[in-house]
Amino acid sequence: MKPFKNKVWLSSPTMHGDELKWMTDAYKKNWMSTVGENINEVERIAAKKAEVKYAVALCNCTSALHLCCKFAGEKLYGKPMIGHGALEGKRVFCSDMTFAATLNPVVYEGGIPVFIDTEEESWNMDPVALEKAFELYPDVKLVVYAELYGFPGRIDLIIDICKKHGALLIEDAAEAMGAKVNNQECGSYGDYSAISYNGNKIITGSSGGCLLTNDLEVANKARKWSTQAREAAPWYQHEEVGYNYRMSNVIAGVVRGQYPYLEEHISQKKAIYERYKKGFKDLPIKMNPIVDNTVPNYWLSAMVIDKDYMCKQVRDDSHALYIKEKGKTCPTEILETLAKYNAEGRPIWKPMHLQPMYRLNEFIGKDGSLRAKTNAYIDGSVTDIGLDIFERGLCLPSDNKMTPEVQDKIIEIIRGCFK
Ligand SMILES: *Cc1c(COP(=O)(O)O)cnc(C)c1O
Repeated sequence: MKPFKNKVWLSSPTMHGDELKWMTDAYKKNWMSTVGENINEVERIAAKKAEVKYAVALCNCTSALHLCCKFAGEKLYGKPMIGHGALEGKRVFCSDMTFAATLNPVVYEGGIPVFIDTEEESWNMDPVALEKAFELYPDVKLVVYAELYGFPGRIDLIIDICKKHGALLIEDAAEAMGAKVNNQECGSYGDYSAISYNGNKIITGSSGGCLLTNDLEVANKARKWSTQAREAAPWYQHEEVGYNYRMSNVIAGVVRGQYPYLEEHISQKKAIYERYKKGFKDLPIKMNPIVDNTVPNYWLSAMVIDKDYMCKQVRDDSHALYIKEKGKTCPTEILETLAKYNAEGRPIWKPMHLQPMYRLNEFIGKDGSLRAKTNAYIDGSVTDIGLDIFERGLCLPSDNKMTPEVQDKIIEIIRGCFK
């Protein structure tokens, strides 16, 4: 088999034409700024789609999550002094198997992420481990939860646990736009939620994001904070620290043009997932789990290799090596083989508790085991579901422009690794 002439991407932008129309509209009307019709429309459409009252259009999802942390912190602990974070010194329970942008904003605000292990059955935060975490630290008042790859976990249970302990919930639905839990949209579950229009997400503005909320006061304040926190005065008047986080009206044109195609993208991604599932039916692997009463948006198809079919693989902080064994493979072999054929896969997001930056942070497993500052487990036995999924798992090429013929070849390439 020859390498693909055109690179097969993990997930790349898919434009349709309307994006250029609305960008051009901004240009022609000279709303080349952070105000304009496109922004208003994005906020209207995003709120409607996510079934929340208000959406605030921002320059990306990370900034939306930062503002979410500020809102939660100020509500829980009061307004910090200038120069202090809203979560200063406070533990915050965070998803562990996610992209770092989910919880870096906790640190921007001085908070201390405590990582909650992943549930094997959903690949999302384990409600059992979260309950154990509250037993250990009943004073914690904030949970930051991310849906992984657009396949929602048990956020309904997570919410019940938050309520029971009087904690607020920030929902990072960056990867899960259009996915549903109990027939309710992801992005509508958090006290404060965020979505992303980053270039590799299910729809994109090239960049951009929204903060989602049902609280009008929060929406207005987010608009103020994101535009340098100017007070109503003829001059630049400031009572609090502001940010330059507003979405551009040109970017908003792209996002506005993309929204009508969200459902189309979801059905394309679903077809990709199902084609993989069928193609790998007799292989010793599992695809992303789909939890009862959830509807994924199928953003990234991923798989884990059964333990007995893993060849030897070692990774340090920047390299991976493996030893080929007959009938066995590993993510490294599959990813390197895909790359040889000009196709892009990716390892599972490396869990946060394994990141050099966070590896001394606490990490709580479903048996209540706590890995603390010593990097040793000080209580209970060792469970580390996140590490296991990371070692055995990988994300598959999931670009919605991939043809069935190309995908069949990818399936064949991967099947070859098991020989
Ligand atoms: C992409 C992503 C983000 C960051 O989104 P940006 O819009 O690029 O800031 C945050 N969280 C998760 C889970 C993501 O996948």
